[in-house]
Amino acid sequence: MKIIITGAAGFIGSAVCRHLLRDTGASIVCLDKMTYAAHPDTLAPLIDGDRAVFEPIDICDRAEVERVFREHQPDAVMHLAAESHVDRSIEIPGVFIETNVVGTYVMLEASRLYWAGLTGGRRDQFRFHHVSTDEVYGSLGATGKFTEETPYAPSSPYSASKASADHLVGAWFHTHGLPVVISNCSNNYGPYQFPEKLIPLMIINALEGKPLPVYGAGANVRDWLYVEDHATALVRILTAGVVGRKYNVGGDAERSNLEVVHAICDALDGMLPGKRPRRDLITHVADRPGHDHRYAIDATRIRDELGWTPSVTFEAGLRRTIEWYLHNQTWWQPLRSSVYGGQRLGLGAPE
Ligand code: NAD
Repeated sequence: MKIIITGAAGFIGSAVCRHLLRDTGASIVCLDKMTYAAHPDTLAPLIDGDRAVFEPIDICDRAEVERVFREHQPDAVMHLAAESHVDRSIEIPGVFIETNVVGTYVMLEASRLYWAGLTGGRRDQFRFHHVSTDEVYGSLGATGKFTEETPYAPSSPYSASKASADHLVGAWFHTHGLPVVISNCSNNYGPYQFPEKLIPLMIINALEGKPLPVYGAGANVRDWLYVEDHATALVRILTAGVVGRKYNVGGDAERSNLEVVHAICDALDGMLPGKRPRRDLITHVADRPGHDHRYAIDATRIRDELGWTPSVTFEAGLRRTIEWYLHNQTWWQPLRSSVYGGQRLGLGAPE
């Protein structure tokens, strides 16, 4: 099986690539524009020019995307490329509309034209897997969980752009019959995450003794999933999911932002005892506009239909993540001086 993976150099895309190469016989075609969020050293070790090839292209460039389909003749597409940081979407929404909406449209059209030219079993087996977020559902109160039937109510330019993309994917299924699957996942954490997101930002700042900025009271609640568990869920959905269906993916690990930051501080205090507890570094900053209060995932469908459940608890995953950032400082140190790794560090924000 040959799979085009867009956003392959990013946090989740690269985890999917590592999983496919390590645990399956699939070959991969890695598409990535290499934005600020793509670290060159994340994907490079995987590319061997045989089972894994790299196409450094923009998914909005239709001619280039069509060339990639012609040259590589894929059996499936896993579409992860996106602008993914909520704070940036508030400041510069245009690029989110361009990549997340127009880029998804280009991927869908290129897939449709390519799929229309396939015959027999290859046509039947082709899949377009769109990877999306639980943020499309908007905010929950103190109770309840998002199911696949929850109506969309996105709050941020990021989540609105992802919701738009989800609807386009649905339209290409209903109108053209393109064999799609969509997944909506909660917040991921783990190795290789760009340190603009909550968990790596807090780990790195806590390591360096810098302030740990928490939005408002830190009471916003997210469900957290270890990235390698998301990668296995995505491949399960691609290979066994029902065409035209949506699957929610979650870690069954709801934590408030403050609980997450406390857990990081306490784990680091245990690993690297210092003079004063790292919780003292926490500073509360003005809340993000439109900040959703709570997200929680009902993952019954993927569990019952596809037999997938997360394998890593939040505590174990967090410990692995902290250890990874401790042992891979050469990966993240250069990012400290980049635009969103330096100037913007100070905005602690999940997804
Ligand atoms: P990321 O920002 O780490 O990676 C995105 C990748 O897409 C980067 O490598 C970037 O270079 C690439 N990219 C951006 N614009 C591109 C373009 N125009 N053409 C080609 N490549 C482009 O993001 P991530 O956290 O790995 O998220 C991947 C996907 O998963 C996104 O679609 C996101 O919406 C979704 N998602 C993320 C989370 C999470 O917690 N991180 C949760 C649920 C869903």
